[in-house]
Amino acid sequence: MTDSLDTALAAELQARRTAGLYRKRALLESPQGSRVVLDGRECLAFSSNDYLGLANHPVVVEAFRHSASRYGVGSGASHLICGHGAEHHALEEELADFTGRSRALLFSTGYMANLGVIGALAERGDGVFEDRLNHASLLDGGLASKARFKRYRHADTADLDRHLRAAEVRRRLVVTDGVFSMDGDLAPLPELASVCADRNAWLMVDDAHGFGVLGESGGGVAGHFHLNQSQLPILMGTLGKGFGTFGAFVAGSDTLIDYLIQSARPYIYTTALPPAVAAASRASLKLIREESWRRDKLAVLIDRFRRGAGQLGLQLMASRTPIQPVIVGGDDEVMIVGRRLLERGIHVGTIRPPTVPRGSARLRITLSAAHEESDVDRLLIALDQAFRGIGP
Ligand SMILES: *Cc1c(COP(=O)(O)O)cnc(C)c1O
Repeated sequence: MTDSLDTALAAELQARRTAGLYRKRALLESPQGSRVVLDGRECLAFSSNDYLGLANHPVVVEAFRHSASRYGVGSGASHLICGHGAEHHALEEELADFTGRSRALLFSTGYMANLGVIGALAERGDGVFEDRLNHASLLDGGLASKARFKRYRHADTADLDRHLRAAEVRRRLVVTDGVFSMDGDLAPLPELASVCADRNAWLMVDDAHGFGVLGESGGGVAGHFHLNQSQLPILMGTLGKGFGTFGAFVAGSDTLIDYLIQSARPYIYTTALPPAVAAASRASLKLIREESWRRDKLAVLIDRFRRGAGQLGLQLMASRTPIQPVIVGGDDEVMIVGRRLLERGIHVGTIRPPTVPRGSARLRITLSAAHEESDVDRLLIALDQAFRGIGP
């Protein structure tokens, strides 16, 4: 049996290698930060989602340590059995206040939150409508639900409206990234909210990349566009990116949260996060709300990068967020550019299909408040050298 298993899988792996789509993991031997040690070499990193530099912040680390010495490590059970701790509960209340929603619910990961929410809200006979460029966890949630699943053209509210009008379904759930994870652009949320209101559809936004980064006090796309709970009733965020910790949450009405606790299977059938992780997230939320200088600094760095990259003739995307993709096009070329940057001590994400559409392989450059302007200048010089002989 093992023989046939390994033979079948080895053939598939070989096909991936031949197609140049085989993926490898680099070994990280340092905390996240602007400088990391990856595969034994120190580099300047523009590749993590730790946009605010909080993953290794001393105050966050201390909150984690303190909580672990008080509550131990494992939560020991799911929330509904006996794992729902004081730290989890306090974090939920603080997240509700932060998002201006009635209530918030913690999930162990963003992937699970998305599967859980979509699965709980859309059943057979319903319709799920998603932006084509949504994160894989949202697409998987739509596919795994028993509802009819439609993708509309990226950020195209007219296309969405057509699908909503044509669908003969009981309930309509519209799902979008707030900030698109591979492009860095924002969903047209005010327009989406108004289409949803017109067509009696429920709007769900996954703001994994907006929280902490956008909005005056870091409230994400909902804060940026000033959308309240009735305009944007299902708001999801993750804690592993701008928050620098781990986990995820959904915020909305009392009834929504109550319903999810009863029915979201990835909520019910999993162990609660370690309480110390929730404590660390509380510390990080406090920094996000009280210290706006990180967002101001990011804006300066983003501007500097875009101006410099424009002067080099690099192909940028319409992004004002810390996600600044540079389109390369070919799958092999993007790997060459990535390797050349690494030789110059710089690590950036290299993204190929199926994560992005064919022909749009790109560097996924991410900026962080932990970077300095001189780091951005070093990146620009290295990009200039790494793109020699490679078309955009
Ligand atoms: C990272 C990400 C997720 C998954 O969150 P995890 O907590 O890492 O599982 C979901 N949605 C989007 C848009 C993401 O970028």
